[in-house]
This record gives sequence, structure tokens and C-alpha cells, in this order.
Amino acid sequence: MSTNTLKYDTSKAKSLLREVSERSGQNLSACYQCRRCAAGCPVGEETGVTPDRLVRTVLLGDRDEALNNLLVWQCVACYTCGTRCPNNIQTARITETLKQMSKEAHLDPLKPRIADFHSSFMKAAGHYGRFNEIEGMGIYETKTAINELKKGGLKAVFDEMKAQAKLGMTMTKKKRMHFKIDKVKNVAEVKALYRRAKQGKGE
Ligand code: SF4
Ligand code: SF4
Repeated sequence: MSTNTLKYDTSKAKSLLREVSERSGQNLSACYQCRRCAAGCPVGEETGVTPDRLVRTVLLGDRDEALNNLLVWQCVACYTCGTRCPNNIQTARITETLKQMSKEAHLDPLKPRIADFHSSFMKAAGHYGRFNEIEGMGIYETKTAINELKKGGLKAVFDEMKAQAKLGMTMTKKKRMHFKIDKVKNVAEVKALYRRAKQGKGE
């Protein structure tokens, strides 16, 4: 978390709270900082940001910090925090919302590879309504390679490809790779949901 002193601005705080509450469907104002969520978060310690702290950041109207912290990118959506919360606040939905807001604001993500994986997952899942490992990882590897090449890291590209090939072989051995494209019955419905989400009309 930033060590900068925050200048509290009521209208900015209200506006951020309204936007995050509406888009995530969560009543952040109900949070009374009991920290039950913090105790169960598997990534809170590593990211240095626990769910209660993220909610507090939004309540204080600190947009920069809310859109640019490690929990937003490293939340694994395990929903432990929401299960423990006496006010049923699902921080996983808040981190997802803040992730989208961060992308819309074109901020450089603190974890570029996670951001690339997230975009690749969403893109692949949007094609057939189910995530296919081959397609998703193909998109992800292409994005990663382009980004590494821009930085001049040819070796990093090969290292990444080698690591992914190894992972792919392990997954194949364990029958966790799906070579057949699996579709949901109504792909058009999934595509319509994606369109709505892009237009900011849906969750
Ligand atoms: S458990 Fe719920 S009410 Fe308690 S700090 Fe976490 S989000 Fe707030
Ligand atoms: S859903 Fe995210 S924020 Fe909540 S406990 Fe799991 S990792 Fe932590």
C-alpha cells in the first residue's frame, strides 16, 4: 500500500463508492472493519492488502490505490472472505470490478502477466462459453511473447515457452489438457452477456 497521505475528498469518495458498489453489486458501506475476511484470505499476506483494507481504500475514495494494488491482480476468487463476512460482502466481486476499472483507465498493471492471463482467459471463454486450455494458453503466450520482444527479451520468450511446454506435458499426462473444443449449448447467449458487460450494463 502507498505511504502517501490521502487528502480526503467527500465528493470523490462518494463517487468512487457509488461506482464500485453499483458495478460489483456489493454493499461496501456495510463494512465495519471487523477483519474476519482478512484472517482467511490466502493472498493477503503476500500482497500486503487484505480484503478489509481494500474496502477501506474504496470508502476513503483513494482511486489510485484502489485501482492499482496487488490484491486486485492476485485475488484468486476463492470467496473465503465473503463466506466469513457478517455483512455478506464478496470482495472477489470488488477485485474483479476494480480490475476492469483499472483496464478501462489504461493503467499499467502491477502484475502484467496476470493481466495478460486474465484477458486471455476472458477472450477464450467468450468464444465458446468454456475455457479451452490450448486456445487460452495460445492467446496468453502470444501476448507474453509480444510484450517480452518489445522489451528485447528474446531469452525470456524461449524460457517461457519451454516452461509452458513442460507444464503442458505434465497436464496432458494427468489428463488435464482438453484437445477437443467443448461448447455450451447456447453460445449466442454467452456472447450477448459479454457484449452487455463491455457496454457496462451487466456484471
Ligand atoms: S468481514 Fe466484511 S465487514 Fe468485516 S472487514 Fe471484511 S468486508 Fe468488512
Ligand atoms: S476471494 Fe480474493 S480477496 Fe477474498 S479471500 Fe479469496 S483471494 Fe482473498
